[in-house]
Amino acid sequence: MIYQRSSELFVEAQNYIPGGVNSPVRAFKSVGGTPIFVNEAKGAYLYDEDGRRYIDYINSWGPMLLGHAYQPVVDAVIEKTKKGTSFGTPTEIETEIAKLAVSMVPNIDKIRFVNSGTEACMSAVRLARGFTNREKIIKFRGCYHGHSDSFLIAAGSGLSTFGVPSSPGVTKGTAQDTLLANFNDLNSVKELFEANKNEIAAIIIEPVAGNMGCVPPVNNFLQKLREVCDENGALLIFDEVMTGFRLAKGGAQELFGIKADIVCFGKVIGGGLPVGAFAARNEIMDYLAPVGPVYQAGTLSGNPLAMAAGLAMLQAINTDTELFHRLEEKTAYLEAGLRKVLTENKKTFVINRVGSMISVFFCENAVENYEDAAKADTPEFKAFFHGLLERGIYIAPSSYETWFITDALSYEDLDETIKVVTEVTK
Ligand code: PMP
Repeated sequence: MIYQRSSELFVEAQNYIPGGVNSPVRAFKSVGGTPIFVNEAKGAYLYDEDGRRYIDYINSWGPMLLGHAYQPVVDAVIEKTKKGTSFGTPTEIETEIAKLAVSMVPNIDKIRFVNSGTEACMSAVRLARGFTNREKIIKFRGCYHGHSDSFLIAAGSGLSTFGVPSSPGVTKGTAQDTLLANFNDLNSVKELFEANKNEIAAIIIEPVAGNMGCVPPVNNFLQKLREVCDENGALLIFDEVMTGFRLAKGGAQELFGIKADIVCFGKVIGGGLPVGAFAARNEIMDYLAPVGPVYQAGTLSGNPLAMAAGLAMLQAINTDTELFHRLEEKTAYLEAGLRKVLTENKKTFVINRVGSMISVFFCENAVENYEDAAKADTPEFKAFFHGLLERGIYIAPSSYETWFITDALSYEDLDETIKVVTEVTK
């Protein structure tokens, strides 16, 4: 069996860890089969416990923009580790990375570091509520902002405009403050503002959705949200946990030329260590403790190893003037190759792509929101996923996920991938 040792490890893990994993998607529940247990990774490749090599299109769900075990990040972490792993005091490197991030991203004056994307989004919402003195937020169906209670909300039934918990353990009270709108549907947003006058603190959105597969904004959707927020005194929160430092140096704000009020980061900003961050202009950030009244804290926030990894990563991105061009070219090459072979093999498919985020949906019509994404043919996706995995190509084990392209991929890797897709979809 090709996944022999992984299967054994998975069985053992399930005895001690719920479902054998520390984050549900890793369990391959929606595609079935055994998750591969990874032993090490370098550049564009993962190596599993059975000694198999995979071309990696997940890249730790986004952070590895420059490939695995990227040398400057590895070196920075090793050097820092020698000086101690955590102090719980301010350190100079926190200011260094903050200064660099603020210089790279438009419309932000200050940034606060946390330990995950979840924390970043959760804190951004609290800050928006404190700043506006309002309680409700709007989120979009199919967007993911981490697992804090306010975001684990599904659409309410019938005429109710507020959401209901999508997980046991989230209270109805919390759910009432999260309103659900449809991605790329301005009217659904305007209706919520109409029905909740002067109550909405913020809209939070993935400016390019990555958690229902890759779904770009269409028809100036982001610009229109900016306008609706301004008309109603609400803040616009861009959750750039996926898009930040990936779509451009300044993320989606730069790419689309839209000004967000609060921006959330994760993934790339930590270079593969547990880092998140949220940022805004001074007026908003000064609402945060210890300067202002909105409380937010973290024992390991700004941890020196995490900051060293993040700083090395951002420095590399900041100084490589060709990086985003290369990523665009490589991903466009992959997209063209996939379109060609899927068409030749008479598949019904849609490919969405923005920069180095790309998704293949097995469905007929354009995918512009969650409902469209849900139509993507699941059995076909499963077969596609397992066919690729068996042949050494690792894509996300769910059609609701994006492929993350890394600069470490060579054109040979991309050709190999296209060849494998040809075989698998024959
Ligand atoms: N926001 C977005 C857009 C994400 O994709 C994710 C994670 N996939 C999060 C927030 C939560 O980040 P974390 O898993 O680091 O808590």
